[in-house]
Amino acid sequence: MPIYEYKCKKCVNTFSKLVFNKDTIIECPSCKSQDVEKQISAISSTSGSSVGAGAVGGCGSSGFG
Ligand SMILES: [Zn+2]
Repeated sequence: MPIYEYKCKKCVNTFSKLVFNKDTIIECPSCKSQDVEKQISAISSTSGSSVGAGAVGGCGSSGFG
């Protein structure tokens, strides 16, 4: 189940909540405030630094007028 962690901006309370729909109203269980911030979980993302060869591109210039 998709459990996300949220932090209330009002009382700075962190809580986790099941979110079935992205439109689900999230409110703080402590102060019932909906001014919460979704916490970004630590995702081990691989930093792919694969830069291809620099392609030399020139603007197609028209012939002389
Ligand atoms: Zn709160």
